[in-house]
Amino acid sequence: MRDQCRIRIARKDFDIITRHLFPGDKDEHGVVLLAGLSQTEMQVTLHVREVHLALEGIDYVEGKIGYRALSPKFIHRLITRARDARLVYLAVHNHGSDREVGFSSIDFDSHERGYPALLQIARGMPVGALVFGRRSIQADIWLPDGNRLDLDEAVVVGNTIQRLTPAPKRELADAEDTYNRQIKMFGKAGQEQLVNCRVGIIGLGGIGSIVAEYLARLGVGQFCLVDDDHVEESNLSRIVGATGLDASQGVAKVTVAQRLILQSNDHAKIQLVTDDVAKASVAKELLSCDYLFLAADSMRARLVFNAIVHQYLIPGVQLGSKIRSDSGGTLAEVMSANRPVRPGHGCLWCNQLVDPSQLAAEAKTNEERKAQAYGVEEPNPSVISLNAISAAHAVNDFLLDYLGLRPESEKLYYEHFYLLTHKRSLVEPRRDEECSECSHTGLRYGRGDSVALPCIEG
Ligand SMILES: [Zn+2]
Ligand SMILES: [Zn+2]
Repeated sequence: MRDQCRIRIARKDFDIITRHLFPGDKDEHGVVLLAGLSQTEMQVTLHVREVHLALEGIDYVEGKIGYRALSPKFIHRLITRARDARLVYLAVHNHGSDREVGFSSIDFDSHERGYPALLQIARGMPVGALVFGRRSIQADIWLPDGNRLDLDEAVVVGNTIQRLTPAPKRELADAEDTYNRQIKMFGKAGQEQLVNCRVGIIGLGGIGSIVAEYLARLGVGQFCLVDDDHVEESNLSRIVGATGLDASQGVAKVTVAQRLILQSNDHAKIQLVTDDVAKASVAKELLSCDYLFLAADSMRARLVFNAIVHQYLIPGVQLGSKIRSDSGGTLAEVMSANRPVRPGHGCLWCNQLVDPSQLAAEAKTNEERKAQAYGVEEPNPSVISLNAISAAHAVNDFLLDYLGLRPESEKLYYEHFYLLTHKRSLVEPRRDEECSECSHTGLRYGRGDSVALPCIEG
């Protein structure tokens, strides 16, 4: 049943909107948002790509019937822009309320007068309205088929993740004994957010299996596990939960992770995808996730993950570790990385973390690689305790940011741990304004289903 929708918006855009709506004058103000659309059978999601502030007295004027309204000229300019860019037109205004907000009957009357005509102009795209309270949002979205949706939640994706609903949600009725100790840290409401959270883990090897173990014990309620690989003898030193029997039978890594999760959390709903994340049909399964952990080491996985974060405004993190020796065989570097990827903070492309030549090499089959002397992949060195560092830091970031337990900060940092020198370095990611993958004016930002992900067919 789709009678509700979700909205995703980057923190920087959300701050621009709220500063405009609530400048301290206790008055009403207007904004128009243009948003990408994505749809599944269960869920309609809007991804905010453009923010257009309505200037007082020019774009936002005395209403003929209501108190104030967007000017016809402003509406026309933006509904045609929405139509041409295949984006959803959303008219926004504010009420003075705080934790609970809804449209007035005057608001609804104006939607009923205006939106049938806007739907015609929009040629197949939905149109709609949002009303903001100080800590609440409601929506009235009109679909081309005549159905109307209200808001399930708006997700503000910054360094922290904030969720806004039309009214406060009920708290978990009975605090389960299982989570008693952590509830003392983040409350029943936090626990409920974890229970309702759907997390995608890409790669269930050394790092991903540890992430799965941590998230399961925290009580995360839903998982989408993606890995096309099977357990081998050489994995037993690193994959949490894997047994010798798994290795001898070649059990899928996602199956081992599922068993591991259910051991501590038998309520968890787990979707297993034993296939390549670079396939379009596989990547699609990740779009309904609230948070993504990339724990696979292929460039193609990075490419697809990076695109999903920016196209669908889903927060994510890339995890990895590197062990390097010099030519004499002496350890030169032992590093573990935790790289959060968020809309508006640069991306894996801008930071040269997607290597085009390696991408090209991965696109070839092993046979082709041999023939062209690319060399068949040599497995990299890998050690469980090193993997645990990035896994622990990434899950801690998820916990603190997803539950809003630490203040939003302006800057985002990649965290690199250098074990040989006892150093931790914080690197502010580069942000290329021209980047086609992550900039607001680029190919993907907030576009949802209207552009294709950089996937292979299948
Ligand atoms: Zn109103
Ligand atoms: Zn970028």
